[in-house]
Amino acid sequence: MKKAIFLFFILINSITYSQSDSFDDVREVVSLVSDNIYMISSVDGPIAGNIGVFVSKDGLIVIDDQYEINEGKILNAISEISTLPIKLIINTHFHFDHSDGNKAFGKLDIPIYAHKNVRKRLNRNSVLFGSNTLMEKYPEEALPSLTYSSLMSLHDSGEEIQLYNFGKGHTDGDTVIFFKNSNVIHAGDSFVTYGYPYVDLNNGGSFKGFLNILNMIISLSDNNTKIIPGHGPVSDINDVIKFRDIVREHINKTIQGFSNGNSLNEIIYSIKSSFEGDRTKEDFVKAIIFDLKND
Ligand SMILES: [Zn+2]
Repeated sequence: MKKAIFLFFILINSITYSQSDSFDDVREVVSLVSDNIYMISSVDGPIAGNIGVFVSKDGLIVIDDQYEINEGKILNAISEISTLPIKLIINTHFHFDHSDGNKAFGKLDIPIYAHKNVRKRLNRNSVLFGSNTLMEKYPEEALPSLTYSSLMSLHDSGEEIQLYNFGKGHTDGDTVIFFKNSNVIHAGDSFVTYGYPYVDLNNGGSFKGFLNILNMIISLSDNNTKIIPGHGPVSDINDVIKFRDIVREHINKTIQGFSNGNSLNEIIYSIKSSFEGDRTKEDFVKAIIFDLKND
């Protein structure tokens, strides 16, 4: 029953850009990103983060794991890619739509790596900014077993996998994963394509930090880099630059307007760019102002 209440909470509080809110209809769709890297996207269900899969010589490294309830469908999708076992999971951050699957895969004794603040936040109850969404403390086996602070490199099957934390951004525990030789990035929710991004100000997020991380993703990338967003189709550096420019205009104009004592409407009017999506410009600017007041 507790579980049903929690799921109900997710459903009423998430941004839904898919057709259905039921997990029954979820399909997990596999796409090839580069030679040995794939993306698995959840469609026709509640919002869920993109999964990245790296195929090494002796096992799979999986980035993010959506929901425990999707375990069977995720494993089916993974079996389309390879019959090798999952040897490691990396969480890009602690939000449930990227990490709830830890509860399923942790039980299988698969090690989970993440930034140290992911473990800290999953090890207690958290309420996400701007919603009533309660994330209950995860059981021990669903917590990351290996954590890092600012940079960690994994060397596997000729690939160098770099895990970067660039400080506060979407949360205070975001990892940008760069497959250096394959030239592929998994950006987590530091880059999304559904419109106005979400910054979790209850859990260490920061708008200035969010902008900084976008600049870091751009500086890691060249014209051939494939960028897996937290949500949305595989993108490239130009998509991130366009996204960064819009985010930057909103943040800079809001800082300027706020320090000049302008009204909310004046600030909104001064911002020429905008995103299409469920979240409004007004909500985004209000959140930036909230962040400035608490800075
Ligand atoms: Zn998130």
